[in-house]
Amino acid sequence: MAEKILVTRSSMPAFDEYTEEIKDIWESHWLTNMGPKHQKLQSMLKEYMGVENVDLFTNGHMAIELSLQALGLTGEVITTPFTFASTTHAIVRNGLEPVFCDIKADDYTIDTDKIESLVTEKTSAIMPVHVYGNVCDTEKIREIADKYNLKVIYDAAHTFGEEYKGRGIGSFGDVSCFSFHATKVFNSIEGGCVCFGDSDFGKRLYALKNFGITSPEDVDYIGANAKMNEFCAAMGICNLRHLDGEIENRKKVVERYISNLENTEGIKLNRVQKDVKSNYAYFPIMIDEKVFGAGRNEVFAKLAENDIIARKYFYPLTNTFGAFGGKYDTSKTPTALYVSQRVLTLPLYADLSLENVDRICEVIVNCKK
Ligand SMILES: *Cc1c(COP(=O)(O)O)cnc(C)c1O
Repeated sequence: MAEKILVTRSSMPAFDEYTEEIKDIWESHWLTNMGPKHQKLQSMLKEYMGVENVDLFTNGHMAIELSLQALGLTGEVITTPFTFASTTHAIVRNGLEPVFCDIKADDYTIDTDKIESLVTEKTSAIMPVHVYGNVCDTEKIREIADKYNLKVIYDAAHTFGEEYKGRGIGSFGDVSCFSFHATKVFNSIEGGCVCFGDSDFGKRLYALKNFGITSPEDVDYIGANAKMNEFCAAMGICNLRHLDGEIENRKKVVERYISNLENTEGIKLNRVQKDVKSNYAYFPIMIDEKVFGAGRNEVFAKLAENDIIARKYFYPLTNTFGAFGGKYDTSKTPTALYVSQRVLTLPLYADLSLENVDRICEVIVNCKK
């Protein structure tokens, strides 16, 4: 019986490397509240990501939610529904109204030709998502934001470690937010960070992750608690040391998928974009039932029968969530709807063997009718 293959497998350092890294914590008894591990990871990330400023968070979601608060946004935020729950929830939980823009069929990022028609008097920001490691059209987004005086916050959860035209991906927009969740390319168990340029924004953000406390006797903002603890920071420090090698391995897995599937009619593959140094975070395929003969759900089920767990990611769209009680009209984002019904994200992690990639592809190709 072949082993079960899950959609992802968290990266971990050698046990001894981690225990070595956390030894000082037993000496200092400093467990959280921006201790030495937090500071060390922060400076390692600044260097690795090639950004001016970076602050750490307990997870990617709080990084986004508190960034929106620190920007002091009002009214409406233009975003897309082809994303994880977090993006839309962060907007709504800040008392802001999400306005859903459609995506492009080729790289699944926001369709910049459709943003301007959604701008109103109430719009204060655009929050695009770099989906699957595909980078948004940052130049066009900047142009529109400047024209209408809007802030740009990237949900960059999928793009840790990437570069666009030689520039760290975190340096785009007013703010870029990353996730270090266990399932992401780079993890600190749970964790996240925010990259930004404006130091006043940085001060507000720093206070917001610690209840809004600005000095021992001053609480100037209504903050939350979103600090990264020392054990998570230590995990991040260890994992970051091995990240380049992990991305190299992911690349080999992706290349194997491409060579196995590129000639299968009815399956469209995701390609690394021009000028992007990819992190090979995800490998989504689009299945056109009319050509392939079997639909996405059938392929998903067939893989599961063979103990291979793929993921319908992103399905359903966030603008269809029960939480919103049918408030949003999905026919306004037809491409996102089309993609969400056909996309399947295949298993991908650094130590997924090429033999297993072949096995996965064989099951998929055998679904063809
Ligand atoms: C993972 C993810 C998040 C949330 O990050 P957490 O660290 O899990 O809170 C937000 N947006 C996208 C697109 C994600 O994939």
